[in-house]
Amino acid sequence: MSLALEAQSLVKEYTVGTNTVSAVDGVTFGIEPGEFVALVGPSGSGKTTLLAMLAGLLEPTSGRVVIDGEDLGTLKEGERAKFRRRRIGFTFQSNNLVPYLTALENVELMLRLNGEFDSAGRKRARQLLTRLGLEDRLNNLPRQLSGGQQQRVSIARALINQPALVLADEPTASLDTERAFQVVQTLADLIHEQKRAGIMVTHDLRLVEFADKVIQMVDGKVARELSTQEDLSCLSSPGTCDEIPLEVLGFPKSAAADIAA
Ligand code: ADP
Ligand code: MG
Repeated sequence: MSLALEAQSLVKEYTVGTNTVSAVDGVTFGIEPGEFVALVGPSGSGKTTLLAMLAGLLEPTSGRVVIDGEDLGTLKEGERAKFRRRRIGFTFQSNNLVPYLTALENVELMLRLNGEFDSAGRKRARQLLTRLGLEDRLNNLPRQLSGGQQQRVSIARALINQPALVLADEPTASLDTERAFQVVQTLADLIHEQKRAGIMVTHDLRLVEFADKVIQMVDGKVARELSTQEDLSCLSSPGTCDEIPLEVLGFPKSAAADIAA
């Protein structure tokens, strides 16, 4: 199967004064359509920098990002912006909904930006929001929605253009546990069903279980790539998991207690 996303030897160096920081230091991995990856790692390990390069928002110092067969580095700025609007969906912790547009209008806006605001698109927007449990909230403004509902609108917005790649940077950081589980479960279901490639940055170990694969970053490098089917099963029974200390995975120690509970 051809990959939806290929990151090849990605490097990003920041120069501050006379110092050079390698924020991302030679990262290579691939994601298939329908595969949902959790990206974990301590603060400062390069997760946000990596996501920004995958999104075409930040130029790598070296290396390549190939999405759906398209090498982002070969696109001109304008083409890259257009490609990003059509083929990449984003959802972030601060969901950036437009405050004076309703839930439905926020999702439809993404269709308008691509000149694809037709009846099929409108129908898809309603279906997506319904699927996300918001059928009674279509005409509410963001301030009339709870944090979890706003986050779900943001997910609908990320998916409406049927992107090849969906990027989520801590999408549940503002939600309580139960809401976070629901949101990530639905995100995972949609990514699987619609054959998108998905990447979610998270600090919550329990949310990792909804992903198919975990990529752990340390100091700008991929320290581990684990299948959640096999390797992580040990995380639910502390004591048998010596090879993967939770702190190394970028989780607080308290996560172990949560898992054991
Ligand atoms: P994470 O999202 O995993 O916390 P980041 O990608 O934000 O990590 O940061 C990785 C490293 O790059 C850190 O050492 C951070 O201080 C540095 N960094 C991030 N952005 C910049 C920037 N714009 N200029 C200089 N250094 C940066
Ligand atoms: Mg970050």
